[in-house]
Amino acid sequence: MNLPDIIKFVIDLLAVLLLALGIKGLSKVRSAREANILAAFAMLLSVIGLLFYYLRTEGIRTQSWAWIIVGTLVGSLFGTLLAKKVPMTSMPETVALFNGFGGMSSLLVAMGAFIYPFNEGVKAGSLESFINDVSISISIFVGAITFSGSIVAMAKLQGWLSTPGWTQLKARHFVNIVFGITSLIAFIYLISGNNGSPLWLLVLASTLLGIGVTLPIGGADMPVVISLLNSYSGIAAAAAGFVVKSQLLIVAGAMVGAAGLILTQVMCKGMNRSLISVLFGGSLSAQTTSSSGSGEYTNITSCSVEECALTLEAANRVIVVPGYGLAVAQAQHTLREVTKKLEQNGIEVVYAIHPVAGRMPGHMNVLLAEADVPYEQLKEMDVVNPEFPATDVVLVLGANDVVNPQAKNDKSSPLYGMPVLDVQEARTVFVIKRGMSAGYSGIKNDLFDLPNTSMVFGDAKKVLSELIGELKDLGVGDK
Ligand code: NDP
Repeated sequence: MNLPDIIKFVIDLLAVLLLALGIKGLSKVRSAREANILAAFAMLLSVIGLLFYYLRTEGIRTQSWAWIIVGTLVGSLFGTLLAKKVPMTSMPETVALFNGFGGMSSLLVAMGAFIYPFNEGVKAGSLESFINDVSISISIFVGAITFSGSIVAMAKLQGWLSTPGWTQLKARHFVNIVFGITSLIAFIYLISGNNGSPLWLLVLASTLLGIGVTLPIGGADMPVVISLLNSYSGIAAAAAGFVVKSQLLIVAGAMVGAAGLILTQVMCKGMNRSLISVLFGGSLSAQTTSSSGSGEYTNITSCSVEECALTLEAANRVIVVPGYGLAVAQAQHTLREVTKKLEQNGIEVVYAIHPVAGRMPGHMNVLLAEADVPYEQLKEMDVVNPEFPATDVVLVLGANDVVNPQAKNDKSSPLYGMPVLDVQEARTVFVIKRGMSAGYSGIKNDLFDLPNTSMVFGDAKKVLSELIGELKDLGVGDK
């Protein structure tokens, strides 16, 4: 090993360690922010390591430097602007776009390595050449599916693309099988050492396969698909790592691939959906319309913000259940003001976090962290569920599906089996939402009909602002 090799090895090792620490840190809200910075630093380190290595061993031509600098500047500028502009409610689309870019990078690297082979010393027909061809083909196949699938997912989440016709069409499975078989033929052709056209056939067929598989998937299932595509982007990157002989890319890609798969599994469990039904069963809303889960409300009680404030004033323990509506209303800071007032009055406040509340995993944690809610007040579903019977008031804020008792009581409901928060066990439940619209699943919520539930109609931020005024008038939080 010469000096550049040793330095690159040390930098790579450090980057892998930082990346592993970053991924571990992301599993806890408290450490997530630092973990993200750590992982980003690991990526920067790996880029520096690679540039240093090429500079010392092969020398980078002046012309290449220009490309590298321009590419880095454009990419950094685009990433920074995107991260600053994107609202919390559009995070799933952003993640989809990032996955798509990841898939496209692996695809382009593999195509480049195929068209301009740089392993010239490798003998045709040798094991090394075979491994190289297999890595290139996997990287192209998975990278193209990730790219096209992520772009479709992003467009659907953004509301730019609606495909009810394609979702109902049974023949879509046949069309996808044709794309799949064509990709397989091109793949086999490519790894058999053939040049030229199979490459383009593989790129085309896998791109179409990504589109065909993602198009029929409904909005509610889309974030599951996004985490699956995230995992694919890792697999494509790992394969690209074999192509360019980068151990770091192999390890990082494998980590992303595994983390994405675990996340997909967690989300499927949280939504009570099997991955097979997400990928091949069409949209949940399509199933919902034909189910017995819908119906009329018969016992709705609505109340004023003033009544809600009076009940809160008398409470000892309050649980807040944040949902998608809270994110839409951007009411997290106003909520924090309300809960601060309650706490100042000696009322115990905790937040019940459902694993799929909102539109992406961790959505609520991030939102509440933004408003400086102490981490120790956030309680996961399994921990908080036994605590509802000993709770005086539950404030359901823009949440719907995640508090629907149908998921436990009604076997005919499409939600049946989805783990939910048992808010109905509390003494009083206030549901703050704008009207009687259904949640993401499109299903009636039996909670709203229960005698201990009162609806406070209005935009979450507006109702919470009014609540602050009412609490002030009652002298709550002035001590
Ligand atoms: P839901 O989508 O079930 O309900 C949100 C509710 O918020 C709606 O009923 C809506 O009623 C209300 N709302 C909307 N805007 C406002 C506003 N400005 N102020 C007050 N209320 C508002 O949200 P949940 O968080 O309960 O459930 C999440 C759903 O998303 C689940 O079905 C879950 O499976 C699904 N999902 C979650 C994923 C995740 O990873 N987190 C992934 C995929 C799907 P109204 O219009 O009457 O105000």
